[in-house]
Order: sequence, then C-alpha cells, then structure tokens
Amino acid sequence: MMEWIDLRSDTVTLPPEKMRAAMAAAELGDDVYGEDPTINRLQMLAAERLGKGAALFLPSGTMGNLAAVLAHCGRGDEVIMGDCAHTFLYEAGGIAALGGVHPFIIPNQADGTLKISDIKRAVRAPDAHFPTSKLLILENTHNRCGGVSLTRAYMLEAARTAREAGLAIHLDGARIFNAAVDQGVPASALVDMVDSVTFCLSKGLCAPVGSVLCGSQDFIAKAHRIRKQLGGGMRQAGVLAAAGILALEEMVDRLIEDHQHATALAAGLGEVPGLRLDKGSPKTNMVYVEIDAGLGLTAQECAAQLRKEGVLVGITGERHFRLVSHYWIRDEHLPMVVNAFKKVLST
Ligand SMILES: *Cc1c(COP(=O)(O)O)cnc(C)c1O
Repeated sequence: MMEWIDLRSDTVTLPPEKMRAAMAAAELGDDVYGEDPTINRLQMLAAERLGKGAALFLPSGTMGNLAAVLAHCGRGDEVIMGDCAHTFLYEAGGIAALGGVHPFIIPNQADGTLKISDIKRAVRAPDAHFPTSKLLILENTHNRCGGVSLTRAYMLEAARTAREAGLAIHLDGARIFNAAVDQGVPASALVDMVDSVTFCLSKGLCAPVGSVLCGSQDFIAKAHRIRKQLGGGMRQAGVLAAAGILALEEMVDRLIEDHQHATALAAGLGEVPGLRLDKGSPKTNMVYVEIDAGLGLTAQECAAQLRKEGVLVGITGERHFRLVSHYWIRDEHLPMVVNAFKKVLST
C-alpha cells in the first residue's frame, strides 16, 4: 500500500502509539454526572495552561465556538468578526441557525488582524432599529490568512477596544499553541485579555477527537448547559480526554518542528517553476501556494496528479493549495513533495 504524504490538514494526524496506550489505560466514569476523572483532569489542566478559571471538553472546535457564542449572546445580538474567520466561513452558519445571532463582518487584514478603526465602526449605537453588539471574535493562529500568529500587543489593543465598547471577546484559538510556540511565549500570554477561548486537541496536537473551551467558572457553567442542549454531553469520554492530556503534556513543544518543516517546504516549493508562495507563506505550520494562471492547470487537476505521486494537498481556490505540516510529516518527505510538484507542473 502506498504511504501517503498527507498535507491536506493537521486534522489528519492519527494518534501516536503512546497516545493510544494512554487512551486504553484511561480511568473512566460518566461525565454527564461529572464522574469521569480523566475528563476532569483534562479540564483542570487546560484551564491551568490557558490561565482561565475553568474549562469544558467538547467534541469539536465548531461546537466550542458555537457554545461560546451562545453563552455570550442571545437572539438578535450581534457578533463582530473577520470575513475570513473560521466561524464565519466554515461553521455552517451555526450561530445564526441555532442561536439567532447576527454576524457583523469586517475585512481581515493580510496579517489576520482586524483594523481597530473597523472594530470601532462596527459597534452599534443603542437604537431599537439595530441588533445589539455583544461580542468580538478573533482567531489565532489565523487559518485563512495563512496560519499567521497574532501578537500579544495586537490582542491587547483589540481587546481594549472591544471592552471600551462594552463587548465581550472570544478567541477561536484552534491553533493557539502554534501561535504560542511561534512567538516563544506561553499560550496564557495570548489569551489573558479575552473572556473565552476555544482550542483544538485534534489538529497539530494529534489527539483523535476533541476541543476545549476555557473561561471563567460562571461562563463555563453556562457553556456546560449549552453543550448539553447541543447534544454534546458525552459519557465515558475519558478515553478521548486521555489523548488530550497527553497532547497538552507532550505534543505542544514539538510544534516547532512542524513550523520548521513548513519553512523548509516553502523554500523548496518557492523554487518550483510555475508555483508561487501565497498569503505571505510560510506561517507557523501552513504553506499556501498558487499555480501560475499561464499553465492552464486547475488546482483540481494538479491535486489529482499529485495524488498519483502519493502527495495529498488541500484545495483552497481555483489555482490555490494549502499544505499543512504535522506530526507525521518527516524531513525526508519534503524533497518528495517538491519533486512531485516539479513533475506535475512540468508535464
Ligand atoms: C479547525 C478549526 C476550527 C474547529 O474545527 P472542528 O473541525 O470543528 O474541530 C475552528 N477554528 C479554526 C480556525 C480551525 O482551523
């Protein structure tokens, strides 16, 4: 069987052997009764790592962001976020469909930030004609903006702006540990200014399933009820939390290797005739590339050819790809990927 070099996403990571062993050995109970000791341990560990009062384990980042928005907002309230935000683009409109929450979309800048002046302008005056502005959502690292990490200085400024306007702040920190490792700071230093934060265990951290929402104890109590309403109350989910604990304890520091691989891969791909680096790539563990229009090749066609070479890439546009490095991408894969692109683009 062909061994795929799967760069479509860091979500494709299978749990390593030691993680499967931790899952098999996990002490379990019914978490809907609050009796799963492994879930309780994961939630305490996550809250501690992010410097928040409490944490809640959820089946996905999408549910984490949704539960957070529903805890911060009621029907007819408004959330300000970027036009490239995951919550706006890729969460099936859940906040509107299930929460009656109205999105106010402002442009993401190339570096993943929102302009402070745009945030200020988006805040509604108190007027019965308008939705009620309640929440600002930021994303770090910013996926569609190339995997770029937002600095503490920016996060502080955006949070201060939101706070002055009476808004709460939620961070979609699906890859917050990539941002932390990228900047050489603890993750808590990138989230102490926000009210709530979601992060994913199931991406670069290699757990098979799960995300965690962190916030104050009162906020998490509210989110806990909402998780139940959404059908996200799980029973002996300690088998999953055990993977999450190992992810937090052993998989964070090594993310730097993924970033180094992305940098090396981008250096190689930048030299391939017909290929251009896109979105300021590489950033953290992501490389976005674009095929020259002159080649007359679509991303679909190119991806199908690359597949024959054993390389899987994410299609992000008509001539655009995203390649994401992760635990299972090794040094020796990088020249293989570059050669596959050279071969496909020269035929
Ligand atoms: C992956 C991701 C999520 C959550 O995705 P799930 O697949 O639902 O876990 C949220 N935000 C960003 C930026 C992501 O990349």
